[in-house]
Amino acid sequence: MTRRIEQVHARYADVMAGTLANYIPELTRADPRHFGIALVTADGHQYAVGDVDVAFTIQSVSKAFTYGMALDHCGPATVEKHVGVEPSGEAFNSISLEAGTGRPRNPMINAGAIAVTGLVPDLPDEPRFDHILDTFSRYAGRGLDWDREVFASESATGFRNRAIANLLRASEVIPDPVDEVVEDYFRQCAILVDCVDLATMAATLANGGTNPSTGDRVLEPGHVEKVLSVMSTCGMYDYSGTWTYEVGLPAKSGVGGGVIGVLPGQFGVAMFSPLLDVNGNSVRGVAACRDLSRVFDLHLLRAPSMSAHAIRRTYLLSEVASTRGRPAVDEAILAEHGNEVVVIELQGDLFATCLERLVREVDERIARAHTFVVDLRRTGTWDQSTTGLLRGVAADVRTAGARLVVADPGGTVGESTFDGLDVTVAPSLDEALLACEEDLLAASGRPDPAAARFAVDEFSLTRALDPDGRARLQEALTTRSWSPGEDIVVQDDEADALFLLAEGVARVSYADPATGLETRIADLYPGVVFGELSVVGRDRRSATVRARTPVRCHVLERPRLDALREEAPRVYTQVLEHLLLSSSDRLRRANREAASLRA
Ligand code: GLN
Repeated sequence: MTRRIEQVHARYADVMAGTLANYIPELTRADPRHFGIALVTADGHQYAVGDVDVAFTIQSVSKAFTYGMALDHCGPATVEKHVGVEPSGEAFNSISLEAGTGRPRNPMINAGAIAVTGLVPDLPDEPRFDHILDTFSRYAGRGLDWDREVFASESATGFRNRAIANLLRASEVIPDPVDEVVEDYFRQCAILVDCVDLATMAATLANGGTNPSTGDRVLEPGHVEKVLSVMSTCGMYDYSGTWTYEVGLPAKSGVGGGVIGVLPGQFGVAMFSPLLDVNGNSVRGVAACRDLSRVFDLHLLRAPSMSAHAIRRTYLLSEVASTRGRPAVDEAILAEHGNEVVVIELQGDLFATCLERLVREVDERIARAHTFVVDLRRTGTWDQSTTGLLRGVAADVRTAGARLVVADPGGTVGESTFDGLDVTVAPSLDEALLACEEDLLAASGRPDPAAARFAVDEFSLTRALDPDGRARLQEALTTRSWSPGEDIVVQDDEADALFLLAEGVARVSYADPATGLETRIADLYPGVVFGELSVVGRDRRSATVRARTPVRCHVLERPRLDALREEAPRVYTQVLEHLLLSSSDRLRRANREAASLRA
């Protein structure tokens, strides 16, 4: 990024075309060589090249921000009564007033901007200009000052602006006393900024009205688009049409040499170079902005597809599973019916057209589906109409006799969205999948697996042995019990036994060594064998297994296993063979899941 910006900067650094604004005498003291470019992303990262810490007066760039203040303070309806939103196609200081009403054409030319400054309240405990300076400071994320000399210079020579203000007063677009409004407008124009300040102010607009560095919400989000609209149509005065055609960014320039551009949702950019063209726009600012737009493909109307990638993937419950370890009977039921549960994973910031993709996907599959899981874990912002559409999907799914489960850990859409629609909102994808599995299993009418009791010879491990092997194994086993909450196996402990879970439910969880945070890996039900990997590999335990209910296990202690190897190598081999087979089954399943995740 920096390199690209440097290249653009270098391309225009020697251009000395244009003239300093001289109708405000003090502005002729600017150094015509100064040239800076700063870019601040919508999440607050800064890139700065050239004279980015030279202070200059904000001048007309201020118009965009006071317009926002007026919108926030008076509301759009009142603001629109005082100033229009039509481009005038005229110079910044034109006397461009609507016939009949005397209303200035738009807030980006002086007439409109003076009217807008008049809309900012002048209160005894907060004088108008204090309010403006304070708001601009919040946009910039630091306390700004203003240039008394530039102010005095403009005030002493600003006959035209005073005339405009008096015309506005005549048609009651601004209140009395006129002079105070004009002086505050001059002060507002004399606020001192540098390139990084301006880029941060622009980034605040790009970020929906919240300063990305300080998190301060300076402008109501709903008003941001209004400010940006008049910037796109009127921000560059009589050059605005060409600007939008060539650069395609809402922008605002000032005779101090500043120019800002905003790419909504992405970043704000600011240029500073005091030499101006005939329109009063910075020569190098305009040229550099045009280049940046080309280099980075910024034209706003070159819109990428917002919805093409809204669905990250669609898969069936038969391809994945929740983290609950299931007895073989249950796995068979899930394998058979898992294809009736369709999981649709959405991603990104969602708009109405993204939901339209979801609607189509649900539509295509609804004839064969019993349940839809909509996974919102990777979604960003939702607007109201999008949430409304999701509710519509829920209603349709219900009408079709199917069920909707929403995995929404971030609480992005909120349960109230589905009031009255019988939708399950789960706090994680795992919980959502679990709910679907339990549903399928309950519908199959099979007995509750948690209540099952497995005798030694009912385990698939024992069934894999011949009668002699079975007898020897039985002999080697001891029975142990645990109360709910008790650890059966502790992560990092030495592996000293293999467990055949005869009764009760146990939970496997993994504690992150750095944070100590526990993640649930699986729930184990009667009929499973666990602890074998570390026993065979003579490793430390890779996870903790804890009783959730009263648990009873048949346990093969390490010395007994070793004895079996010495005394009955054939049985030992059969045991290992079985463990190898069941681990490879699990590995196969994990591979299948991994493959479906990658797809
Ligand atoms: N203060 C200046 C004026 O009113 C601002 C004009 C500008 O920056 N285009 O003339």
